[in-house]
Amino acid sequence: MKANVDKDTCIGCGLCPSICPEVFSMDDEDGKAKAINAEVPESEQDSAKEAEESCPVDAIKVG
Ligand code: SF4
Repeated sequence: MKANVDKDTCIGCGLCPSICPEVFSMDDEDGKAKAINAEVPESEQDSAKEAEESCPVDAIKVG
């Protein structure tokens, strides 16, 4: 399972890193979210999915 943020869609609300900080963080350069470029650890998969479902603009894909 991997996570991806569509930066063109992300509005930089900051919600996903607050839900799942192991996978998502804010990019200081553009103020948008980014995901780790690696497999989502098993222990983080539920919260990564929760972040995907919580994103207000559907910018996150986890799968
Ligand atoms: S929850 Fe969605 S809009 Fe908010 S920072 Fe994360 S990817 Fe961007």
